[in-house]
Amino acid sequence: MNSVRIEDRDDCVRVSTDYWEIEHLKRAGGAWNSLVFKNGSKQNILRGPLTSSLRVLRSETRPGDPYGYFSESNEPAPRINIETAPNGTVSIITEGTYRTVNGDAIPVGFRRRTDYAAHGLVWTTLNIMSDCGCGQIVEVRALGLALRAGMTDAFARFHPTQAGGADLLGGRTWIDLQRNTHTTPFLSRFTPLQVACFERGVEGLEVFPSSDLAQWDCGFKPDAGLGNFRIGHDASGASIELDPYCLASRRMPIRIQGTTTLRLGIALNDVKPRVKTQKPIKHAFLHSPNATDAEIELLAAEGVELICYRDDCREGGTFWHNGDVTPYNAIGMAGLRRVIDSCQRCNIKIVPYISSHELHPSTQAYDMHARDWMHSAARSLDVVHTWHGQEESGGLMCLRSGWLDYRKNTISAILNQLPWDGVCLDWPNPLPCCHPGHAAGPFHSDMDELLDLLFYCRDRIGPEKSLVFMASSESSIIAANLADHILPPE
Ligand SMILES: [Zn+2]
Repeated sequence: MNSVRIEDRDDCVRVSTDYWEIEHLKRAGGAWNSLVFKNGSKQNILRGPLTSSLRVLRSETRPGDPYGYFSESNEPAPRINIETAPNGTVSIITEGTYRTVNGDAIPVGFRRRTDYAAHGLVWTTLNIMSDCGCGQIVEVRALGLALRAGMTDAFARFHPTQAGGADLLGGRTWIDLQRNTHTTPFLSRFTPLQVACFERGVEGLEVFPSSDLAQWDCGFKPDAGLGNFRIGHDASGASIELDPYCLASRRMPIRIQGTTTLRLGIALNDVKPRVKTQKPIKHAFLHSPNATDAEIELLAAEGVELICYRDDCREGGTFWHNGDVTPYNAIGMAGLRRVIDSCQRCNIKIVPYISSHELHPSTQAYDMHARDWMHSAARSLDVVHTWHGQEESGGLMCLRSGWLDYRKNTISAILNQLPWDGVCLDWPNPLPCCHPGHAAGPFHSDMDELLDLLFYCRDRIGPEKSLVFMASSESSIIAANLADHILPPE
């Protein structure tokens, strides 16, 4: 359900939900000029408009500053259109010309489409356009975002080029902005897969390129690694800058001609009112269809309200191979049904553990599709498996493939088969991948497809049943907005 409301005023277009309110300021290119979380700090967390900009090397020499700065937010009279799709997605389309603060223009236009989906997800698609072409551009900033003072934490998930080596799944880092005294606590020449900024326990947001990383890596030059991606922090506040091309200090210009498209997701924290904030649920795990009634009654007596049924890897016995719908023989399945009945009799909700990225090699789907669906960490590597002792929980699959539909269909079939109280999805985070069958360009991620899967799970189980995520130390605002419960890793 999409509960986005829209109000077209003289000076701005106001977009709001129960949790936040945004203003697109008309005289500032239609850019976001205000973002207020209604149950957060209740103040505008933006210090200036969210904008794109181009830095241009001037032909005449000027002492001190050889550059001209042309921004989307300097367009005083953009064309603005508002569209509402049948599914409720509200879109705001703004168009204009890159200008200096004085109004001087270059022959480069922008078209920004901002799509407000449900659950705090916003997609913003920027077209940078020039028919006649424009040279001497030394920096393309797709996103300049200045946030208020008081942010306490930032998060960045690195580009796979940077995160290669031992951790094939993409490195990431949390930054304590209160203790870190650097004005640039994060800086990379490669597109990060996610960047987030929060005031802990109050409010925050996250930005992430869409799965098609080639737009960002190679949109302006065929080589990845010529950008400038930065989290900044000083007394005036935090900032996030995403420049897919920046060789400004080296004065190495590019020419922009035609249309370049950059798609960026923005996740807004659905901050709940304080009184409604849920307390952590007491949970436990069961690992076998042979769990006894006495065991379950004991858990109930200890106050357990939620059980995650996780049997995805066990040495010495039949276990639930990731990707299977009917994991056991008739006796095992009867045992599993009895476990579910016993839990529900004891007023404990029980949900099956579902891996979002793993498919076990013993499944028929693995035989048929593994090489097409696999997560490819490097071109020379085969499927990466997750080993536990002598057994494995599966080979890693990329959701930007047929694996997404297979995973959705098997989740639906699992829910049809037994009276579960919802699902528990593990690993609600994107994987970087270089499988040439999934996308063009050196790397892609499966961010769009992962969000599709999370939204699917929420819709499939409905509002009454429980959507549970297992999280490690990852940031995912959308997962937090969608979930009934987030469990720490077992
Ligand atoms: Zn892939």
